[in-house]
Amino acid sequence: MDAKDMGNDLEKILLTEEQLQNKLDEMARDIDEVYGSEDILVIGVLRGAVMVVADLVRKIHAPVTMDWMAVSSYGSGTKSSGVVRILKDLDTDVMERDVLIIEDIIDSGLTLSWLKSNLESRGARSVRIATMLRKPEAAKVEIDVDFLGFDIPNEFVVGYGLDYAEDYRHLPFIGTLAPHVYGG
Ligand code: 5GP
Ligand code: MG
Ligand code: MG
Repeated sequence: MDAKDMGNDLEKILLTEEQLQNKLDEMARDIDEVYGSEDILVIGVLRGAVMVVADLVRKIHAPVTMDWMAVSSYGSGTKSSGVVRILKDLDTDVMERDVLIIEDIIDSGLTLSWLKSNLESRGARSVRIATMLRKPEAAKVEIDVDFLGFDIPNEFVVGYGLDYAEDYRHLPFIGTLAPHVYGG
C-alpha cells in the first residue's frame, strides 16, 4: 500500500515501511545488547503499540513474554487531555521482573511517565522504555527513553498502529493527515 491508495486523506508520508523496519532492526540490536539473555517482560500499550510490539519482539533474541495495558489520555480527537485512566490492566505480576514498555509515540510524555512510576510502584526490578516515535517539541514532562526510533516534528501522525478516530492503524508506514480530514 502507498499514499495513492489513501486518496486525498494523507498529506505526506513521514516514514516509509522500509525506514520503520530498518530502525526496528537497530532498536532490537540495542535491546539485545542491554538485556543479553535476561527474561524481558514486554508491556505493550494498547492499541497504538500493537504493530511496534509485534515487529520488535520478532527481531529481539532475548527471551520475551508479553502483556498488554490499555490506558487513555486521548479521546478520539487530536489533543492530549493529560488525564490517564487504566482501561485494561496487566494479567502479569511485574514484581521483580525486568519490564520493557513499548509505545508507539511519546507526545506530551504524560502517559508514559505515569505508567513508568505505576509499574515501579508494583515492584518491577527495572522499567525501560522503547518508543517508535517521539515529539520533542510537545514534551510536558522529561522522560528517559532507553530505545528510540525517530524524533518527529510536532504534527499529528497516523499509520503503523496510530489512529485518527480508530482509522489508519493498519497502514505499514507513518504519515500526516490532510487538514480536511480532521477539519483543520
Ligand atoms: P502523550 O501522553 O505522550 O501525550 O500521548 C499518549 C498517546 O497519545 C500516544 O500513545 C498516542 O496514542 C496518542 N498520540 C500522541 N500523539 C499522537 C499523534 O501524532 N498521532 C496519533 N494518532 N496519536 C497520538
Ligand atoms: Mg500509545
Ligand atoms: Mg489514538
